Parts: sequence; C-alpha cells; structure tokens
Amino acid sequence: MAGSSCDDVVVVGAGPAGLTAAIYLGRLLRTVRVLDAGASRARWIPESNNCPGFPQGIAGIDLLARLREQATSFGARFESATVTSLLRDGDGFQLADAQGHRWRAPTVILATGLADRLPDVDDVEGAIACGALRLCPVCDAYEVTDRNIGIHGPWASIVSHARFLRGYSARLTLLPTDTVGTLDGEGGLDARVLPAGGQLVFDGRRCGYAVDGDRDWFDTVYPFLGSRSSARLAQQAGVTLTGTGEIPVDRSHQTTGVPGLYAIGDVVSGLNQISVAVGQAAVAALDAHARLPFVPRR
Ligand SMILES: Cc1cc2nc3c(=O)[nH]c(=O)nc-3n(C[C@H](O)[C@H](O)[C@H](O)COP(=O)(O)OP(=O)(O)OC[C@H]3O[C@@H](n4cnc5c(N)ncnc54)[C@H](O)[C@@H]3O)c2cc1C
Repeated sequence: MAGSSCDDVVVVGAGPAGLTAAIYLGRLLRTVRVLDAGASRARWIPESNNCPGFPQGIAGIDLLARLREQATSFGARFESATVTSLLRDGDGFQLADAQGHRWRAPTVILATGLADRLPDVDDVEGAIACGALRLCPVCDAYEVTDRNIGIHGPWASIVSHARFLRGYSARLTLLPTDTVGTLDGEGGLDARVLPAGGQLVFDGRRCGYAVDGDRDWFDTVYPFLGSRSSARLAQQAGVTLTGTGEIPVDRSHQTTGVPGLYAIGDVVSGLNQISVAVGQAAVAALDAHARLPFVPRR
C-alpha cells in the first residue's frame, strides 16, 4: 500500500504484553513497530507487589517506562495511534487508524488489553490511585488483609469474589447493584449484606456506599462490573471469537488461527496479570520469529 511502512512485526498495544514482545523481537533482530493508544491498565497500578523482581514494589507507570526504555534500546519504534482497522493483505496485514495512517506487516501481535467498567464515582482515578478503590483481588488483596472491605457489583459476581476475599479478611460487606440473594449454601461465607441499588461515593480518601439514607465507609471497595473486550480487531482480520467474545488462541504459541496473527495479555488471558502477559509475549515473539523468513547474518 502506497505511503505505508512495512516492518517484520507490528505490535498493537504498549502495555506489559506488547512492550515485552517488542523487547524480545528487537533482540531477535526483527524490525518492530509498536502502535499504542496510551491507556494501559497498568498505568493505574499505584504499586504492584506481585510483579517478580521488585521486592519493594513498583508503580505501574514506572514499570511501563522501564519496559518502553528497554524495548527502545533494542530498536523498537513507537507511534501513538489507535488502530481502527486490521485486514488481511496477501500474506500479511494492513493496519490503519481513523486519521488515515497506514501500516503493513507480515506479522501482527495484538496486545490491546481490556477496558474495566468503572463505577460512577467522582474522581474515580483518584480513588484507584489511593487504594480506596481496587480492581484486582489477585493483585492486591494481600495489601488489605484484615481490613474493612466492600464488594460491589451484580450479586452472582460479588458472592464468588467474596469467597476469595474471605481468605484475607473477616470484615466483608456485599454491596449489590442488582438484587440481594442468599448466602445459604455458600459454605460459611459470613459477609454482611447491604440493600441493593445504592450509590458508591468517594470523599478523597475512602469509598462509601450510600443507600436508604445511610452511608457506610470502607477501607477499600472492589467493584466487579465487568470489562469491555478489545477483540474487535482480531474479528476484522478473520478470527471467529468465542461465544463470550474472546479471541481463541493456541496456548502453546499464542496464535489465533489466522496465519501471522497473535494475541497476548489481557485481551486473551483468563488470568489478567503482568506475569501472564509477559510470558505470553515471549512465546508469541519466538513463534513469530520462527515463522518470518530466515535471515542469516552477513
Ligand atoms: C488498578 C489495577 C491494579 C493492578 N495491579 C496489578 C498487579 O499488582 N499485578 C499484576 O500482575 N497485574 C495487575 N493489574 C493487571 C495488569 O495491569 C494487567 O494484567 C496488564 O496491564 C495487562 O497487560 P496488557 O499489555 O495485556 O494490557 P494493557 O496493559 O491494558 O495494555 C493494552 C494497551 O493496548 C492499547 N490499545 C488498546 N486498543 C488499541 C488499539 N485499537 N490501537 C492501539 N492501541 C490500543 C491500550 O491503550 C493499552 O496501552 C492491575 C490492573 C489494575 C487496573
């Protein structure tokens, strides 16, 4: 296509998954371009304490900066762009954004993550930054051991997450968005339950739940309101998504079934974790390298 660049690999998304793929591909002496819309979930992590190799913890933005610096040092090129179109083009792919920019590559790695559905709270990003609102119990329930924890969302979802969080604290309160069900048969899940349909609030320090004229405050609140997938690009390229809208991948190679198209990180993972994203990135990068034409060193 006239006016478009052609690299060995285009990576879409510069979160931990896409950046790790770029590091590997650069070190495999492949040309790699990273297109990114700049909204990694990791930017919201105030401090991650389960990210291997950081015993004192690391903020998400610092981790992203380090990964980006590392990828740049091995030759990865970055562009700010939101890819809106991904189409097969002969043996490769054409990508485009809404501004008319075009890119081509024989291999594309989708690392576009997912978008959390956040509660309707004033200064929701401030609430996440100070830990009043948390989105991932696997990531940070350890940090709120024995604290007063609110769990907000549809009944079925909050009950299953309450079971996990009960291992960390006896002080759980369920804050349903839809209906109050029963905890009978939940094997000793002795959580407090407030009436459904209240409003989450944030006072600059803590989150509370306002319902029926009362307001309860918590050390932290976990909302479980689901997420929006970014699998649409894969679908455009010919991938048939699963019934739940996910990209099916071969877990041994992170391939999608469309030759040359890979998907890694939260956009495919059931376990949305940095360590999973970077592992999948390494697997995809090595498989992509093996598929690309062999280039002997002169
Ligand atoms: C508050 C919070 C705390 C967390 N704490 C931890 C923790 O302590 N430990 C842990 O392991 N995990 C943690 N996580 C989860 C972790 O952030 C994610 O698992 C990780 O960021 C996934 O990486 P990813 O690269 O797949 O996706 P992301 O990091 O979300 O990156 C995806 C990138 O793709 C870009 N993108 C999307 N669509 C397009 C497009 N069409 N064109 C171009 N770019 C696009 C986005 O803008 C974004 O930059 C936390 C998450 C949150 C929200």
